[in-house]
Formats: sequence, C-alpha cells, structure tokens
Amino acid sequence: MPNVYWFKGQVSRDDREKLHAHKGVVIWFTGLSASGKSTIANQLEKILYDRRCSTYVFDGDNVRHGLCKDLGFSDADRTENIRRIGEMVNLFIDAGIIAITAFISPIRQDRKKVCDLVGKDRFFEIYIQCPIDICAERDPKGLYQKAIAGLIPNFTGVSAPYDPPENPSLIINSDKEDPQTASNRIIELLEKHNII
Ligand code: ADP
Repeated sequence: MPNVYWFKGQVSRDDREKLHAHKGVVIWFTGLSASGKSTIANQLEKILYDRRCSTYVFDGDNVRHGLCKDLGFSDADRTENIRRIGEMVNLFIDAGIIAITAFISPIRQDRKKVCDLVGKDRFFEIYIQCPIDICAERDPKGLYQKAIAGLIPNFTGVSAPYDPPENPSLIINSDKEDPQTASNRIIELLEKHNII
C-alpha cells in the first residue's frame, strides 16, 4: 500500500514468546454448528490458563457482534469474516499469544489463506467431526430446527456446503470423545511441537 510502512518496534515476537514461555500460535477449530468447537475451545483454554499460558478464545458469535457485525452469511461475507479474523489472529500470534478460534469456517480456501498468512508451523487446524444428525439433535441454540424449517438461509450442512479439512493437525470425533479427552489430545499435540 503506498505511503504506509510497517513499523518495527524494539520488542520482537521472539522477545514476547520468551516472556510468555510459549510460542504464539493459533488453534483453529473447524466443524459444523453444534459440533462442539466452543465447548472444546473453552475447555482447552482453561487447561492452558492453569498452565500459565497466555490465551484468547475467538468465538463466532462474539466476533459477529463487533468486528464483523456488517457481514452476513453469503460466501463473500463468510470469506471476508475469516479474512478479518485471520488478520486479527496474526496480530495475536505476533503478541506471543495462543489464539483459539471457534468458527465454522466452512470454506477450505479461506482456512488455507489464514494458514498461509500466519505460517504453517503456527497454524493448528483441529477438525471437530460430528455427524450432522447428532449436531441437529444437540441443537443448543435451536438453529438446526429453524434452518430445517427454512427460516435460516445458507445454514452450513443444511443449505450451505461444508468443506472438511483434507489434512488437519488433529481430528476430534465429538460424538465419541468428551471435551476433556479432546482437549488433552490437543495439549499433547502442542507439547509434541514444542509450542508449550
Ligand atoms: P459449536 O461451537 O461447534 O457450534 P457448541 O460447543 O456451541 O458447538 O455446542 C456443542 C453442544 O454439544 C454443547 O451443548 C455441548 O455441551 C454438547 N456436547 C456434547 N458432547 C460434546 C462433546 N463430546 N464435545 C463438545 N460438545 C459436546
């Protein structure tokens, strides 16, 4: 962009990571509505917090109340939603924080762009896999009931597509694994990659 220059401060990401005593990364959850992204993200954050890690959970609905409140659920708006979140997450990674995101993020290409932005070694894609009939049965916000009745257009899995990850860092089958077991597996993954 003309006349706009990146300002490099005196404190680097490496310095901040030393202060936090862990790396800055994103744990990117993806999966259908009600698959368990928020539940597992929050469980994971509690475990990391108890280990004195600096974390922040980005939740779909919360972001849509503010940063992305001008966006809807068309393909173009979903792409812009994930682009903005990706840029925000990238800044959190630069701050040395473990960002945890709980967005359906149904479009594979959008997730790939975030991965390309933050770097492959800082992007952990966690696929929360759950059969849609179980998601629809859970229906904690009553969204499936409304979507099936035709009251919510472009609802992922009902009237809009979901591209499952081709090569995720981890698959969690939330119809078989409880949130605690799932979170512990993510902790193991982070340990294995020397993130924490
Ligand atoms: P999402 O963020 O993917 O939309 P939520 O976490 O908001 O999903 O909702 C998932 C619902 O499923 C919650 O009501 C949660 O208590 C329930 N649930 C049941 N079993 C599990 C599990 N093994 N993992 C995650 N959530 C589960």
